[in-house]
Amino acid sequence: MYGGIDLGGTKIEACLFDSDLGEITRRRVATPRTSYEELVDALVGQYDWLRGEAGVTMLPLGVGIPGQVDVETGLTLASNLAADEKPLRQDLSRRLGFPVLFENDCRCFAFSEANGGAGADHETVFGLILGTGCGGGVCFKGAIVEGRNGLPGEEVGHLGIPADAAPGVTLPMERCPCGRKGCYETLVSGPGIARLARGLKGLHFEAHEIAEKAATHPELGEVLDVWAHVVCELFRTIQATVDPDCIVLGGGVSRIPGVEKLLLKHLPDHLLEGGRPPAVLLAKYGDSSGVRGAAMLAALKGQIS
Ligand SMILES: [Zn+2]
Repeated sequence: MYGGIDLGGTKIEACLFDSDLGEITRRRVATPRTSYEELVDALVGQYDWLRGEAGVTMLPLGVGIPGQVDVETGLTLASNLAADEKPLRQDLSRRLGFPVLFENDCRCFAFSEANGGAGADHETVFGLILGTGCGGGVCFKGAIVEGRNGLPGEEVGHLGIPADAAPGVTLPMERCPCGRKGCYETLVSGPGIARLARGLKGLHFEAHEIAEKAATHPELGEVLDVWAHVVCELFRTIQATVDPDCIVLGGGVSRIPGVEKLLLKHLPDHLLEGGRPPAVLLAKYGDSSGVRGAAMLAALKGQIS
């Protein structure tokens, strides 16, 4: 059996998998927000629970985090965790008595979908998560592309949106949490859809309300159309830089009803001319894909002999 933990800004999800990576059971706890020590304790608590459920004394464990682990210093770089600039991997490994595998959550997602997931039949897979933020990861022949800093695909949400990404529309350009203005994340994420409704129509709705009402509310339907144009422009950026065989979408925003049809409608207006376009697919394992990828990495790297 294998354990996966998805360490998020609001919850820590632990999931136990069998040897074929079938899910056995899972448990969510709230993420301690203020104290690093409490955060480490919560991770140890989730691991102890996984061990108990598995009935074993030690269990291979992979942890997906919403940020990076610096390859040289081992420090966690995750501004929305109480572990930013802390040696979380070392501290957790010391507490558990073996080297715990840490990986960026978007890369875990891409790894999961490239291996047995929606991208399984494709050589180069770009995993793209559209949720409260926007991030990605790249796999080639089933393996994560590491790059110099573990960055390939990860920061794709912080590339700039072309001014004319949606035809005939002046897009609202707002400041991104990264400090820059006009990043893709500011419009393609869940909060980005709400920002488009506010900026273009003066309408105040959350993303899930816009998704639910779009079919019967013409102005919200137009908002989703503009959103789809911007997402397709992001696909063009991905095509121009990585040229993947497929883009696998995950995250809460990928659950908008009819999202595939909406994106495919606008895709031909945005992709590079000539050549073969990437397939656009929805994640096979949905919200579980990240934690599945973390467990799969632990299984692959075999921490416990
Ligand atoms: Zn940004």
